[in-house]
Amino acid sequence: MKYSAPKGFQDILPPEISFWQRIEDSARAVFAKYGFHEIRLPIIESTDVFVRSIGEITDIVEKEMYTFRDKGDRSVTLRPEGTAGAVRCFVEHGLHNLPSPQKFYYAGPMFRYERPQKGRFRQFYQIGVEAFGVAQPTLDAEIIAMLNDFLNAIGLTNLNFELNSIGCDACRPVYKEALQLFLKDKITEFCPDCNRRYSTNILRILDCKVEKCVELRGGAPAVSGHLCEHCRIHFDELTALLEALDVPFSLNANLVRGLDYYTKTTFEVTSEHLGAQKAVAAGGRYDKLVKVFGGPDTPAIGFAVGVERLAALLQEASPAEQVAPKVFIATLGKQADTEGLRIAKALRNNGLCTEPGYGASLKSQLRRADRIGAEYALIIGENELSSGTAQWKNLKQGTQGEVALKEVQSFFTKS
Ligand code: ATP
Ligand code: MG
Repeated sequence: MKYSAPKGFQDILPPEISFWQRIEDSARAVFAKYGFHEIRLPIIESTDVFVRSIGEITDIVEKEMYTFRDKGDRSVTLRPEGTAGAVRCFVEHGLHNLPSPQKFYYAGPMFRYERPQKGRFRQFYQIGVEAFGVAQPTLDAEIIAMLNDFLNAIGLTNLNFELNSIGCDACRPVYKEALQLFLKDKITEFCPDCNRRYSTNILRILDCKVEKCVELRGGAPAVSGHLCEHCRIHFDELTALLEALDVPFSLNANLVRGLDYYTKTTFEVTSEHLGAQKAVAAGGRYDKLVKVFGGPDTPAIGFAVGVERLAALLQEASPAEQVAPKVFIATLGKQADTEGLRIAKALRNNGLCTEPGYGASLKSQLRRADRIGAEYALIIGENELSSGTAQWKNLKQGTQGEVALKEVQSFFTKS
C-alpha cells in the first residue's frame, strides 16, 4: 500500500523549510518591536464562530469549510482563518478590560476546501496580527508600516500595497444603493455567484475574479466617492501617515471586504511574480466584530499573510540552500568514534554546527562531508588517538594539516 498526502495538503521539507523559518523568525522579531505579543489559538472552533464572523454569504462559509461533527455530536470546523478565533479569545478572556490597545499575532495552519492549484492549498499557513481598542488611523498606519517592515526584513521589496476604505454604517448603505443602481440593468449578464451577491452581499461583486464580471463592472461608482465625513477624514489621515512613514501604496477602489462587520480601511499586498494567486497579505478594520461576539464596542484591525506565497517569492529570488556544517568529524574505530562524538558535543556547545561520520569507511564518510558542504573535515583514527592528534582538511580550499586533540576547540572556533 502506497500512501500520499491528501490532495491540497503538502509536506514542507528541507531546504525549502529555511524560507519558512526566515519568514516566521522575521515576523516574530519585527512584530515584537511593534509591541505585538504571540497568542496560540485552537485549530478547531465551534462552527458558529466562523459562520457569524466571516458571514454566511461568503466563499469560505458557503463552500470551503472543513466542518464535521465530533464524537460529542458538536459541529466543529477546522479554522479557515485566524481573526474569528482571535476575537472569540479576546472576548472570552475579557481582554477588553486590559489597557488598550491589545496587540497580538499568531502563526499556524488554516484549512479551506478549495480547488488546489498554484498558490492555493487546502492546508496553508498564515501569520496574522490583530490589534484591538484604537479607532484612530495611527493604528491603521502603524500596522501597515509593520507589514511593510516585515516584508522588507525577509527580503521582499517589490510588492504592491493597495488601499481602500469601505466606509461605515453611515455611508455604506448610500454607496450600496448607488452600486445597485449601476448594476441593476446588467446584473443578469454577471456570473451566477454575482447574481446571488446582488441581493445578499453586493460589495463582493467588486472582487469577483470572473473576467466577464470584471469587464461588466467597469465604470462602477467607487466607494471612496461616497464616504461620510468621518470616514473620509480617517482615510485622508491614514494616507498622509503612510506617506510620512515612507510606505508606498496605491488606491484600489475595488478592494472590499463584503461583510458589515468590516469598516473603513482595507488593504492588500500583491506581487506580479505569483501568477493568478497574487495576494500575499490582506487585512482591514473590523470595528464591529467584537460586539458580534458579545464584547463591548471595540474597534479593531488586522491582517494575515500567506506563508506559502511568501516562500514561493523567496524561492524565486534565490533557491533555498541547506545550512552546511562547519566541521565534519570522520572517525575510524570504536575509540575514535567516542572521541569524535565528544569533540562534536564540545564544538556544538561552542556554537559550531558539527556532523559526525557515523562509522562507515573513511572514503564514504569524506564523500558525505563533501556532499553536505562541510567546511572542514577532522579525521581521527587509531594512530591519531595514540599520538593525541587529528588530521584536518579544509574542504573548500583544499588545505590540510594536523592539530592536537586538546586544541581542536580553539582551532575551529578561531578559523
Ligand atoms: P484569495 O483572493 O487568494 O482567495 P483570500 O481573500 O481568500 O485570498 P484571505 O482570507 O484574505 O485570502 O487570506 C489572506 C492571505 O492568505 C491571502 O492573501 C493569501 O496569501 C493566503 N491564502 C488564502 N487562501 C489560501 C490558500 N487556499 N492557499 C494558500 N494561501 C492562501
Ligand atoms: Mg479565497
